Amino acid sequence: MRLMSISVKQISVLKYLKLLKDAGVSSSKEYALVNQDVHGGEVYFRNAHRLKAFQALLRASETGFPPETEVYRKKITEINWDKETDGLDVDTILACVENIRGPGHDGFYTGRCPSCAKENRDSDSNHFRFNPEEMVIHCFAGCNRFQIVEAIK
Ligand SMILES: [Zn+2]
Repeated sequence: MRLMSISVKQISVLKYLKLLKDAGVSSSKEYALVNQDVHGGEVYFRNAHRLKAFQALLRASETGFPPETEVYRKKITEINWDKETDGLDVDTILACVENIRGPGHDGFYTGRCPSCAKENRDSDSNHFRFNPEEMVIHCFAGCNRFQIVEAIK
């Protein structure tokens, strides 16, 4: 079995980060360093699933094409995004929401909820939360995504 001959089961964090860059997946959640098995400056790949991901990463860094799972994930994300927002793009949301600021370290933007604003509420501009990467649109006062998207359009 070819799989049994894999000898690399750990690489340094620095090498790993370079690999992510070369493979074009620096912004990938699956490959993000925080989601890896890291000990003492080394990234470990201990099970078949992790080794497979590691191999995909090596292949991607050599060929310049992102790993298949990553391409698939991006596509799904785009489709879902269109469905969730009725085609509203990120730039429009950022341009139309009042007092928008961010993103914070968690990737979320904060601003005045457009749906609340319609009723002159949320004067503190902290009801609206938006994370383009996670496709999350949220209002702390309870407006649903449909109401928010409608208010923006
Ligand atoms: Zn609201």
